[in-house]
Amino acid sequence: MDVPQLGFGTYQLTDPERCSTAVQTALETGYRHVDTAEYYENEAAVGEGIATSDAEDVFLASKVWRDRLGHEAFLESARERVDLLGVDSLDLLYVHWPMDTYDPAETLPALLEAREEGLTRGLGLSNFTPELMDEAIDHLGEAPAAHQVELHPLLQQEALRDHADRHGYQLVAYAPIARNAVADVPEIRQVAEKHDATPAQVSLAWELEKGVVPIPKAGSPAHIRENYGALDLSLDDEDVSLIDGIETEERVVDFPNAPWH
Ligand code: NAP
Repeated sequence: MDVPQLGFGTYQLTDPERCSTAVQTALETGYRHVDTAEYYENEAAVGEGIATSDAEDVFLASKVWRDRLGHEAFLESARERVDLLGVDSLDLLYVHWPMDTYDPAETLPALLEAREEGLTRGLGLSNFTPELMDEAIDHLGEAPAAHQVELHPLLQQEALRDHADRHGYQLVAYAPIARNAVADVPEIRQVAEKHDATPAQVSLAWELEKGVVPIPKAGSPAHIRENYGALDLSLDDEDVSLIDGIETEERVVDFPNAPWH
């Protein structure tokens, strides 16, 4: 499945009017992939933003929260996502986290059934480790279309990038500018100055260079447009290897019982 290469994240866009306006601005700018989730409590506004724009070919992804991963609960949530977004089908439906009510023998057959029911075209997993991915692929009998994880120049996720390459699914990068912590990294500022670009654009261009799909969130029209400009920035080998060297394994999303601990 082709996942459009730059997505628009919507976490924390909870005010309905602000959210649907931001989605409209993103679509006018050229984004064709919108990322939301049950947890973000904004799907009706995201759906409204899409419905009132002129864009036709929007790739839409949502996620089932971790308290609804039992078989029936998952399918109910999948139907609810489609209803709230006001679409016939999602392009990607993710298991948001492999924890709490996650049980591969229940959750993953339900994800396959959601696809059979026409609720989603693609299967998505999020926040899995390579070991949990192997287990999930065994249960699904196929690789998912996408795996969404935190990934940016400070957390480069080499093992997960290798896993995605070996199994042929798309890696999607959340928090792709590390909530703008990248702006404080001297090497990123140096590359940005060289190309007359911004640190956010340099981070996103580095992810695109690695074959990863970033989904930056922005509320303001200026940031929405600035981030889309990353598609016009091409980094040379020297830039890429400078950024490759700044891994610090710093996460913006972390907590003691997260799957990677
Ligand atoms: P992010 O995209 O790295 O950063 C968003 C923050 O950076 C916002 O505060 C935004 O401010 C600011 N920003 C955006 N563009 C900027 C720019 N060009 N210059 C300076 N600041 C800028 O972090 P995120 O929202 O956590 O991650 C992106 C998306 O990934 C989310 O919206 C969500 O869709 C998804 N996500 C998924 C998971 C998961 O568990 N699967 C977890 C976290 C996030 P303004 O809004 O003021 O522009």
